[in-house]
Amino acid sequence: MTSTANTSILLGLLAIVLLILMLLRVDQRRKRRQRQRAYPEYVEGLHLLLRGRKDAAARAFRAAIESGPYALEARLRLGDLLRARGAVEQAARLHESLLSFPSIPVALRRDAALALADDHKAAGKSEASIDAIQRAVTAIGNDEMLLQRLLQALEENGRWDRAMDAARTLEKMSARSVKPRAALYRVERAREALASGNLRRARADLRKALVEDPKCGPARLLTGDAFFQEGDLDKAVAEWLRLAEDVPELASLAYSRIEPALYDSGDYGRILAIYNSILQKRPGDVETLCRLARHDERIGSLEKAVERAHQASESAPGTIYPRSIMAAYLCDLNRPKPAGILCREIAQQAQSEVYRCPHCGITGPDFAWRCPSCLRIGSFVRSKSG
Ligand SMILES: [Zn+2]
Repeated sequence: MTSTANTSILLGLLAIVLLILMLLRVDQRRKRRQRQRAYPEYVEGLHLLLRGRKDAAARAFRAAIESGPYALEARLRLGDLLRARGAVEQAARLHESLLSFPSIPVALRRDAALALADDHKAAGKSEASIDAIQRAVTAIGNDEMLLQRLLQALEENGRWDRAMDAARTLEKMSARSVKPRAALYRVERAREALASGNLRRARADLRKALVEDPKCGPARLLTGDAFFQEGDLDKAVAEWLRLAEDVPELASLAYSRIEPALYDSGDYGRILAIYNSILQKRPGDVETLCRLARHDERIGSLEKAVERAHQASESAPGTIYPRSIMAAYLCDLNRPKPAGILCREIAQQAQSEVYRCPHCGITGPDFAWRCPSCLRIGSFVRSKSG
């Protein structure tokens, strides 16, 4: 009797558990169906993309292109996925087909044009890439984001004339001055003219660059170079000196031109006069003091060189360079103990100043007008690295 009762209870419990399981499954199916209704394939594709499931996302986008309400958007995303996989021609065809729809919304047209530009760029077709953005500018009108991208593409490809035009249009729209940037474009054009021996054209561009931006360091530097190339040392030195005066952070570039030119001609007195004139304007200028220290070393006045290097390190305690040359001079003077102390201090001060491009992240020890990697103008900036 008891055992029969127990069996019935057990069976009853089993039935209840089975019922609960069935209800749960039905509920799951209902939820899945609801989700499918709520999320069209395009949105499903985006979710998959977010979860890193690129293949499944591509399938969802393909389905969306066939039937979904976001067929155009799906085309854009699928194209991006194809490009990321290296199928750049296919990606370009898809994005191009998207642009051929007459009633495509402006924001989508812009995104598609930029995506197409990326496809062409990935395929190594820089002209077609620029052209894709230009066509969008023509179709949409002056859109700041498009113009910025156009400018970037033109810079990357050294199309200075068109970059100047685009910069002017951007200036009108955004009310931000692009003169310093336009001046740099002229400098790049002048650099090309100089390399091909066309001094007249180079100088004309450099003059205009300095009118646009009187503090344009590269223009000043290159003007000096052009004079030097012509054999006019006085005018060359005058331009380089002006650069050192106007743009302190580029003084070292000016000095590295002035020094060999004047040492070559044996004009030591003039080098001293130049450095002293800068020190009158900027007392304690580290770069200039270090240069003077090296000059002292060159003419054999090591004690004086140590003094100058010390002065420089006092005026910029965070910089390694003055201390390191001071340590070297102390070694030359056969004073190993203070030299050793200095070296240990320098080693502790394990921080180095490098240049870094915030766009592509590349770093390097030497300053450059254009990032050596992504070729952007003026983006290779000084930064502290740990
Ligand atoms: Zn870069």
